[in-house]
Amino acid sequence: LSERLSGIFDALTQRGALNEEDVDIALREVRRALLEADVSLDVVRSFVDKVRNRALGSNVVRSVTPGQMVVKIVNDVMIETLGKTVEPIDLDAAPPVGIMMVGLQGAGKTTTTAKIAKRLTDRFKRKVLMASLDVKRPAAQEQLAVLGKQINVATLPIIAGQTPVQIAQRAEQAARLQGFDVVLLDTAGRTHIDEALMAEMAEIKAASSPHEILLVVDSLTGQDAVNLAKNFDDRVGITGIVLTRIDGDGRGGAALSMRAVTGKPIKLIGTGEKIDALEDFYPDRIANRILGMGDIVSLVEKAAQTIDAEKAEKMAAKLRKGKFDLEDLSDQLAQAEKLGGISGIMGMLPGMGKLKDQLASANIDDKVIKRQRSIILSMTPQERRNPDLIKASRKKRIAAGSGMKVEDVNKLLKQHRQMADLMKAFGGGKMGKMGKMASM
Ligand code: GDP
Ligand code: MG
Repeated sequence: LSERLSGIFDALTQRGALNEEDVDIALREVRRALLEADVSLDVVRSFVDKVRNRALGSNVVRSVTPGQMVVKIVNDVMIETLGKTVEPIDLDAAPPVGIMMVGLQGAGKTTTTAKIAKRLTDRFKRKVLMASLDVKRPAAQEQLAVLGKQINVATLPIIAGQTPVQIAQRAEQAARLQGFDVVLLDTAGRTHIDEALMAEMAEIKAASSPHEILLVVDSLTGQDAVNLAKNFDDRVGITGIVLTRIDGDGRGGAALSMRAVTGKPIKLIGTGEKIDALEDFYPDRIANRILGMGDIVSLVEKAAQTIDAEKAEKMAAKLRKGKFDLEDLSDQLAQAEKLGGISGIMGMLPGMGKLKDQLASANIDDKVIKRQRSIILSMTPQERRNPDLIKASRKKRIAAGSGMKVEDVNKLLKQHRQMADLMKAFGGGKMGKMGKMASM
C-alpha cells in the first residue's frame, strides 16, 4: 500500500495545485486501505468525505506540496476521529466505584477484568473487588477466581444459584462493607448480540449503576464492530471501549468504526494473553496501524528530504543477504538521531512497519541512541564488522572508552543480535525486493 500511495503522492507533488481530481485519486487509495483494515463501509465513506472537504477547502501551505497536504489531512482526521488523547478509566466517584465489563463471548472480558484490576491495584493503589456475573458459561466464575488468586486481587465468593443481578448487588454490598475502592463486574457474553443479552446487561446496569461501562471488543472484529458498539451503546449505554487482541493480525479498523459511530473513547488496548498486557490507547499509533504505511506524515515530510534513497537501497540489498553488522547499526543510529528515533526511521522505510513494532517490543528506546552510538564508536572497525570478536577484555576496553559499563556493551550487542536476526528473517528471500515489501 505505501508504495501505491507514495507513488500517487509523488505524482501529486509534481503538479502545482491540489485539484479535485488529485484528491480523489489519492483518496481512492486511502479508501482501499481503510477497507483492508476492516473499517466499516459507512465509516469509510464519511471519513473520506471529511478528508475530501478539508483537502479541497484548505490552501496548500507554501513550503509543502499538495501531496503532503493530503497525507497530513488524512492523518489528522484519523487521529481526530480516534480521539486525540489517552482517556483513563474514570474513578472519580464515591467508592466503591463500579466498573461493568460488557461484550460478546470470547471478546476478552474476563481477562481484561483481571488486567484492569491489576493495573488499578498496582499503579493506582486501589483496593479492588472482582465479581463474575457469568452464570451462563460453566466455570466462568471459577476462571475469575483463579485469575484473582494469581494477581492477588479479591474476588466475590461464589454462591451457586444466584442471578447476575443478585451477584451484582451482593458485590456492591460486599465492596461497601469491606471498604473496597473499586468493584469490577465481569458479565456473561453471547456468541452474538441478542435481545436476551441486552436485557440482562440493562438489568444489571439498573441494579448496580456502574460508573463506567466498558465494552470489550476483539480488534479482529470486522464490519460487525459498528453494529456491536451501536447496540451496546443504545441499549446499555457504554462509557468506553477496550480493544483486545491488538497483538494479533487485526489492523484495528474496528477502533475507527466504533469510535466514529458511538463517539465513546477507546480507553485501553489488550496486547496479549498475559495479565500485564494492557496499555493505554494512543490514537496516533492506531492511525499508523490502520493506514499500514508507517508514519505517513513523517514519511512525506521528512523521509523524502533526509533518507538517502541510495543508502536505503544499499541497506535493503544487505538485508536481503541477511547481513547487518554494527557498522550498519551505527549508520542507522546516526540517521535515527536526525529523524527522531530508530523506530522512526524503520517506520519510514517502506514495508518496515512490522519490523518497527518488533523493534519497539525489543525495547530499542530512542533515548539510548546516543549512548549506543558512543559504544559503537569505541570499537575497532574489525569489531564492528565482526561482533563475535568482542569478548570480555574487549568489552571492558569498549566500556571504558565510551564511559559505559560492560553490561551496557552487552546490552547493545544483544540488541544488535536481535536486530540482525529480525533483519535476516525479513531479508531472507521471503519478500524479495524492497518494492515487494512495500505492498505488505
Ligand atoms: P470473555 O469470554 O469475553 O470473558 O473472554 P476471555 O477473557 O475468557 O478471553 C478469551 C480468550 O482470549 C482467552 O484465551 C484470553 O487469554 C484471550 N485474550 C484476551 N485478551 C487478549 C489479548 O489482548 N490478546 C490475546 N492474544 N489474547 C487475549
Ligand atoms: Mg468471561
